[in-house]
Amino acid sequence: MAQTLRLNPIRCDGYGICAGVLPQRIRLDEWGYPLIDSSPIDEHLVARARRAVDACPVLALSLRRDRSAHGRANSGADEPRLSHRLAGQPSAIGS
Ligand code: SF4
Repeated sequence: MAQTLRLNPIRCDGYGICAGVLPQRIRLDEWGYPLIDSSPIDEHLVARARRAVDACPVLALSLRRDRSAHGRANSGADEPRLSHRLAGQPSAIGS
C-alpha cells in the first residue's frame, strides 16, 4: 500500500532537518519551511521517508498509508501536490 508524507504546519518550526534527510521529496522555501511532495512515495524511498519523520524534533511530519485503489494521496484532483505552512503568503520577501 502506498504511503504519503504529511506535514502538520502548526507544529513545524522550520528547522529543515527533514529536507536534509529526504531531499528527493522535501525542499525548503526561502524562510526554511518545508515544501512537501505529497504524492505516493516510491518504495525505494520509504525507509528514508521514515528517517525524515523520525528526525523531526517536533513530530510535525508523518507517513500515512494511502487507502485509495490507485495509490494517490487523496481523491481530490484539485488539491495541490505541494503543501506549505505559509500558504497564501507572498513567494518572496518584499515582492
Ligand atoms: S517538519 Fe520537522 S524537521 Fe521538517 S522543517 Fe518542520 S520542524 Fe523541521
